[in-house]
Amino acid sequence: MEVSKASYFSDFLSPTQVVYDLKSSTKIQALEELLTVLEKKKLIKNKEPILTRIIDRERLDSTAIGHGVALPHARVNTGGDITVVVGRSKKGIEFDAIDNKKVYIIILVVWNPSIPGLFNHLFAGLAQFLSKEGFRNRLFNSASRADLYKILSEIVLQLPQLEDKIINRASLLHKLQKIEQQRKKARKEKLKELKRQAILIREELDASLLDRYDRLMERYGFAVAEVEDGACQGCYINVATGMSSAIEGSNDIYVCENCGKYLIAKKKKESA
Ligand SMILES: [Zn+2]
Repeated sequence: MEVSKASYFSDFLSPTQVVYDLKSSTKIQALEELLTVLEKKKLIKNKEPILTRIIDRERLDSTAIGHGVALPHARVNTGGDITVVVGRSKKGIEFDAIDNKKVYIIILVVWNPSIPGLFNHLFAGLAQFLSKEGFRNRLFNSASRADLYKILSEIVLQLPQLEDKIINRASLLHKLQKIEQQRKKARKEKLKELKRQAILIREELDASLLDRYDRLMERYGFAVAEVEDGACQGCYINVATGMSSAIEGSNDIYVCENCGKYLIAKKKKESA
């Protein structure tokens, strides 16, 4: 399909791919419940390998982006471009979210590996709408399946710009770095698992981002530096105050103006 022009989320979603009231109370049950909908509609052939893939991906890094929303996904060849199903949970589901909050809306995406651009396109659009509190509240408080579908249909997908927030890129890069550093010391059995995880992450990141990451890794042995007390831990030089606070709680990609490393906020222990 054409990804260069704006399209609507509803291009990928029919009302029957919306579950207004999820029965499940746990993350894995909910993922399975949603995949069952796709299987029954023959949008996927066999849910089992996809479920495994999604759970593997969740173990790497929860796709619950905070504020009650999760975007679990798997890159699997389904024959089509992209397959989506949306579920709403009235009571909320524990999803290991970054803000420790329960998830009320789950947007599950299965996408074809041959079209990586489409994935970013879809996610950038979703992230943009879901970042608005008013929009999220309308989804949470929707009155029926038809109502929920109608609200979801308002989501316009645009081609991601450089500045656009693409889910978890900074933390994914950081995770990739940890995995690749472990690979250097890992034993044979562990090596295979680490390689598989690295591939999963690399599939989701833009080529330009990875190119730069690989060059930094080759030169310095690390590419992502934490920012602690306002200072880049790659070079120990303070980053601009505005940038330091922007990095806090953001998944955007920032680069240290001094040493060129990708920057990520140092994780604070959550005070529940
Ligand atoms: Zn630096």
